[in-house]
Amino acid sequence: MSEHNLLTGKRAVVTGAGRGIGRSIALALAEAGADVAVTARTTTELEALVAQISAMGRKSLSTPCDVTNPEEVQSMAKTFIEGLGGVDILVNNAGNAGSHKFQTHPDELWHRMLAINLTSVYYVTKAFVPTLIDQRSGRIINIASIASRVGGSYIAAYTAAKHGVLGLTRALATELLPYNVTVNAICPGYVDTPMTDSSVANISSRTGMPEAKAREVLEKTSPQNRLIQPEEIAAIALFLAQDVTKGITGQAFNIDGGGVMS
Ligand code: NDP
Repeated sequence: MSEHNLLTGKRAVVTGAGRGIGRSIALALAEAGADVAVTARTTTELEALVAQISAMGRKSLSTPCDVTNPEEVQSMAKTFIEGLGGVDILVNNAGNAGSHKFQTHPDELWHRMLAINLTSVYYVTKAFVPTLIDQRSGRIINIASIASRVGGSYIAAYTAAKHGVLGLTRALATELLPYNVTVNAICPGYVDTPMTDSSVANISSRTGMPEAKAREVLEKTSPQNRLIQPEEIAAIALFLAQDVTKGITGQAFNIDGGGVMS
């Protein structure tokens, strides 16, 4: 089977698909033949993506949804399940980074990081799981982080949330084994996306370092001395979405230029 029809007939949902990693994943799944439903909060970005996927000849739909809001998530899932006629691949990608020194860590930041990076994965997965169980097949792919594997200064809440995503991945992989639904995680190091642009701007404004220098600091966290490209994450998601990888479940794939080797 050629790379272009690996996923023909499959129906995918990608959260946080308006830009960055989610957008690349949505395009890669569509390129491989899947119909793709995309969500985030910014309608303009979603509409542009739907137009791009539709131009490839795939079915595509979008609805805005804040994935931290369980009612909005339920309504998004209903729209997508009806619109696609079922769901085969769920990519939990929406997330956001925030950092703060721990001694003075605002409680608001803690709760916000847990809500967007962990509880959202719980809400979205819960909304789609009954359909995957009914179908007796499915793929759940969680975009975690290398912060799911190791700790780092000033990112206590993000790290705790992303470690949680890995725990949820493993627990659910076990619970969904009887239904032929696999659950895996991808753990990227710094990726060249708008989220990383914000981190660069943050470092620069807090330290007075020029932005180019701040970007270099993030590049140097990788032994390959570079940021990962979103397409590299999409390639792993595409791999995990295929029928032939049904034996892989409860796993986490580091893609960080060789920084963490476990
Ligand atoms: P971006 O900020 O570039 O894009 C994030 C996407 O998520 C946007 O489409 C955004 O759209 C959406 N989103 C954010 N908050 C919400 C919300 N409350 N409800 C619905 N959608 C939301 O991020 P990246 O592409 O860089 O990151 C994607 C994922 O990858 C995240 O989970 C992140 O933690 C993870 N990751 C990223 C790394 C990196 O270096 N960039 C490294 C490791 C992991 P909108 O604002 O319109 O809602």
